Amino acid sequence: AATGTGARVVHYDASLEQRLTQRATVAADLHRGLAAGEFHLLYQPIVELPQGRIVGVESLVRWSRADGSIVSPADFIPVAEDTGLIVELGAWILDTACAQAAEWRRLHGPDALRSIAVNVSARQLLDPCLPDLVAAALARHGVPAAQLTIEITETAVFAGGRALATVNALSRLGVSIALDDFGTGHSSLGLLRTCPVDAIKVDKSFVDGLNGTPQQEAIAIALTGIAQSMGLRTVAEGVETEAQARRLTELGYRHAQGFHFARPMPPAAIDDLLRAEDPV
Ligand code: C2E
Ligand code: CA
Ligand code: CA
Ligand code: CA
Repeated sequence: AATGTGARVVHYDASLEQRLTQRATVAADLHRGLAAGEFHLLYQPIVELPQGRIVGVESLVRWSRADGSIVSPADFIPVAEDTGLIVELGAWILDTACAQAAEWRRLHGPDALRSIAVNVSARQLLDPCLPDLVAAALARHGVPAAQLTIEITETAVFAGGRALATVNALSRLGVSIALDDFGTGHSSLGLLRTCPVDAIKVDKSFVDGLNGTPQQEAIAIALTGIAQSMGLRTVAEGVETEAQARRLTELGYRHAQGFHFARPMPPAAIDDLLRAEDPV
């Protein structure tokens, strides 16, 4: 019988159905876009403080559709995760980043970039084939494991034992594990004990608090102390101003990433940066 409550449920059902249809459309489109070669990777420099010399890059995926529009990963990664398409897309991202790493090794020497970072989502960590996939991509392109960093979020690892087992297997391959958006989750510090972490990426929200009140700065200060005493590399994310870069240097941060230094850019632009630093 149609009650008031029932009507409300119908209303929610309708919007849910709409959302699901939208998701299904995006999912079908993602699948087609992947086959049509509509994805590409940009690379954002990770620099050494204080000089700002490039020491690594993070790969960031972009979807440029036939109509010329660019879709943000924030919009399509969640759909790709829900539909499982992230496994196929993730494999393409890994292979493309490793091919690019090999190209830079060839052009600028094996030590021009200390690390190439690839983001791996929660769903990918649940795939027991991931370590084999990573090993195969590295071998196919002749890139040493030590040059690859896998960026994971703490929520992804927290999701369960299977994800942690995958991270352990990745670590045994010799790739670096970086905890992304560090400090924003519920279990950041605990994970440093249970998960084989090599680096933490201090979230932009803490960088935003630099040069503010002692309270606003406290976490950025504490995190570098913890990282140092645990022998972890730290990268400060989302550095947008000279003042933030200067403060990070004062606090002992060695590595940073953000629009103040460089935006995500196509491989040729990274080439130009590396060429400028090539020994003559
Ligand atoms: P993330 O891994 O935390 O990546 C950093 C994001 O911050 C990037 O956004 C980057 O462009 C942006 N960013 C860098 N410096 C600054 C800055 O100074 N200020 C501001 N406001 N933003 C800055 P992007 O490329 O839109 O990626 C968003 C998120 O999408 C990523 O966050 C990551 O979670 C996900 N993502 C991107 N590429 C991939 C990928 O290849 N695979 C997976 N699984 N996820 C990806
Ligand atoms: Ca990342
Ligand atoms: Ca991040
Ligand atoms: Ca993020």
